[in-house]
Amino acid sequence: MRILLIFTVSILATSLALWPWWQNSMQHSGREALLSLEAFIERNAQQLKPFIQGKQTDCSGPVVTSLRRAVFSFPYVKEIGLYNEQFRVYCASNDGPVSIRLSPMLRTRLLTADNHQTLSLTRAKISDTRALFFYVYDPLSGRGANVLLQPESLNQLVGEALDDVGAGFQLEVIGRPVRTHGLPEGAALVSQYRFESQRYPLVLTLYQTLGCQFSFIVNYLWVGLLLGSFLSLLYVYRRHQLLRCNSLAQSLLQAISNGELYVCYQPIINVRTGQAEGFEALLRWQHPEQGDISPTIFIPLAEQLNLMVPLTEIVLDDVIRLLHRYRTSFGTRYISINISRHHILQHDLAAMMRQRCYDHPGLNHRLLLELTEEYAFSEAEMLQAINQFERLHECGLRLAVDDFGTGYAGLDFLRRYSFDVLKIDRTFVAGLGAEAALQPLLEAMIQLAHQLDMSIIAEGIELPHQAQMLHQMGINCMQGFLFTEPVRAGQLKPWFNDTLGADVLTDQVLSDMSKYAMSSDKQGISGTGC
Ligand code: C2E
Ligand code: MG
Ligand code: MG
Repeated sequence: MRILLIFTVSILATSLALWPWWQNSMQHSGREALLSLEAFIERNAQQLKPFIQGKQTDCSGPVVTSLRRAVFSFPYVKEIGLYNEQFRVYCASNDGPVSIRLSPMLRTRLLTADNHQTLSLTRAKISDTRALFFYVYDPLSGRGANVLLQPESLNQLVGEALDDVGAGFQLEVIGRPVRTHGLPEGAALVSQYRFESQRYPLVLTLYQTLGCQFSFIVNYLWVGLLLGSFLSLLYVYRRHQLLRCNSLAQSLLQAISNGELYVCYQPIINVRTGQAEGFEALLRWQHPEQGDISPTIFIPLAEQLNLMVPLTEIVLDDVIRLLHRYRTSFGTRYISINISRHHILQHDLAAMMRQRCYDHPGLNHRLLLELTEEYAFSEAEMLQAINQFERLHECGLRLAVDDFGTGYAGLDFLRRYSFDVLKIDRTFVAGLGAEAALQPLLEAMIQLAHQLDMSIIAEGIELPHQAQMLHQMGINCMQGFLFTEPVRAGQLKPWFNDTLGADVLTDQVLSDMSKYAMSSDKQGISGTGC
């Protein structure tokens, strides 16, 4: 139904949009048609010049023959006559010598016209048919010629010129209509255009009827259909996307109540000790049909649906359970949780965290909140965020800038607030060893972090040489698939073993680490040297 509406609207809109263009092209065609008529008459006048400028003033056999030849060679010409200084036709191509006086009115018109040419439309007395005459006069010789034209010839010329616009028209010679074309009796007129010749007593009137308008719409239907098809496709695509989004949104709501969301933890390793300093809590969605759905898809969706608060609650509940489960071996380790920008700006995160810390004493010392500046904060948003940061700090929570160096997670964020930890994004790690510019960039970041009294964690370590190079640069805390992918809470046990190094890290990594081990005095996030 909507698609039908789109098609109808497209066709109407196209017609409306093209209508002024058609009107213009109609006016243009009208002018062109009149010009082509004038050019036709002018050509006839040129061909007659030898007869009226020559010395011959009689109607001898050769004169009549040459007149007949001219009749044959001029299109639409039926007869040619020659008239003398007294404006009396003395010789005609059909009848030979004749004596017909031109009317005084015609004489005046010929003498007063700039080009000494004119037209007349009369009704022949004998045949009762209309006769269209073209007259040319030569003021030097005082003589002239007249040409009997088929009245239809002019209409035919105009019709050819107006073929494209398909409008009805009427041609008038000295105010008398030659014949009206394409204008049915009683047809409803939409508009009409009048074109008057400056050279001949000719007027061309174009008529636009409702029928014209309809045939115009039919002619340009394809443009409307094309537009309609394009818009329909766009509509179907958008609708499909919306439905998909809605069904995903619906699924996410169900996922929360069905417990399909769970938390994984990725250890953050201090490569100096081989111990896990902390763990990043990462939310997972195991969809019953679609399998694992990445947080990069469902977190933005949850933000749109205003579901970030329940999601953060799920993470916090799981973290609290984990802390309880490993309370004896947890030591000074911490858990970092990701906080969405939406949660800070649309909700009172600080109030929520204060309540949690009140309910679970000591929780504040175990948490690190990771914040990413995915989009530039407006000044008002930045002030609101800073207010939240201050209140979170007051609760004893520590704050980290996540994905530093990507998107907007950059210097402006650091300039505006004192964070505790800088998490260098994995894009800076991936190219280490291959891209020469990365090392100085990383060194600048490290220096900046030291100057701002921030600890550093490097993310996305996948290869031993990346760990080695970062370690050489002074970064001790690292997180990445080289050590382990994010795992379920139950699989974290080995990471709480204080002598775990050899159990968990591969021999290769450990030997590489020991090669580059540095004795650093820097204080870590939880005092162990990050
Ligand atoms: P993030 O906070 O930067 O998390 C690190 C991401 O890097 C995780 O992806 C992790 O699995 C991945 N990763 C860790 N080591 C490596 C590695 O060596 N190589 C590569 N290629 N990737 C590595 P994940 O779990 O898909 O999370 C993506 C993002 O989704 C997170 O980026 C975070 O911004 C967001 N996110 C995840 N869980 C939560 C959550 O509970 N709350 C909020 N607000 N955001 C979350
Ligand atoms: Mg993170
Ligand atoms: Mg990150």
